[in-house]
Amino acid sequence: MKKKKVLNVTTSIVLGMGVLFTTPFTVGAVGEGPGYTGNESIQTSILHTHEEMVDFLQNQEAKQDVLELEVFGQSVKGRDLYLAKYETDPSNPSVLFLTQQHGNEALTTEGALDFIKQLGTGKMKGILDQVNVYVVPMFNADGAMGDVNFSLEDYVADGDRHLTRYNANHYDLNREHDKTTEDMQPEARALHENVFQKYDIDYMIDFHHQGRNSERDGKLVSGSILHPTTPNVDEEVLEGSKRLGAIVFDAIQSKGWGHLGKYRGGSSDNIGRNGIAARYDISTVLFEMRGMADHYYEPYVLGQKSNGYIIKQAVTTMEETVRAIADGSVETADTSFWDTLDYQQ
Ligand SMILES: [Zn+2]
Repeated sequence: MKKKKVLNVTTSIVLGMGVLFTTPFTVGAVGEGPGYTGNESIQTSILHTHEEMVDFLQNQEAKQDVLELEVFGQSVKGRDLYLAKYETDPSNPSVLFLTQQHGNEALTTEGALDFIKQLGTGKMKGILDQVNVYVVPMFNADGAMGDVNFSLEDYVADGDRHLTRYNANHYDLNREHDKTTEDMQPEARALHENVFQKYDIDYMIDFHHQGRNSERDGKLVSGSILHPTTPNVDEEVLEGSKRLGAIVFDAIQSKGWGHLGKYRGGSSDNIGRNGIAARYDISTVLFEMRGMADHYYEPYVLGQKSNGYIIKQAVTTMEETVRAIADGSVETADTSFWDTLDYQQ
């Protein structure tokens, strides 16, 4: 199908300590889901541990004919990184769903596991013959488990398990994507060498969580989306990204709980949305879900009563984009909404 670009990596800047999100937030808005108020307890025990996730995936692999698991690398602390593959025909278009580059952005992984479970129920029967699906859940496994070489004692969640944005070496894995692979952290290097450089991927959605208080049109958003904004992305790849984003927007905005804004994101190639699009000609969309599982900065943390619709938002996104890629409707999606969609505030 399409030809991959020859890698052209110029400078590689080592970003040791990543910066906080710069998303502005407003106080006092009335929204769809409750937020953390400082009184509600934040239980991380409802989230899959890495070990539980591996058990779940292996269980699903045993039940599902098409599903094949691959360990494509290890985290700094030696946790296996998993690629879940649904490959039916090499000539099919393909999509990769990547979750939890930031370890404290956890409901994206819960959504990915639900999605994998759904694929085993026959609900998407026939669709998987037309599209190859790849899922990398809990990419930052050490951050997700709070097994890191720095202190998390000021994080707000209750209990023994804290979740953090960074990998065990305190690197932000979503600021690695413009480096030569030799200079990358182990998780990013494995993803580039053993997934992006090995599989022919056409589309990618990179799932994250943002702060909980962003709004569009005076209403709290359930999430925000953005296509690549790097000057180094091929025009056709950018158009594909915008069309993929149109499928996501229509699928979510039509739901009662869905309300999306445009994410205000940078243009640097160290970010996955940009770097992966520029480097491998993969059409990418960033999807930022509302609120995080844990943080030292309280206004980013989402009350767990909102978990249900946020997980559903991830599952719906995965299902509807897979359908649109399978039936080819992603090829003709109307991208004009990008011109009128307001940035979240
Ligand atoms: Zn993130």
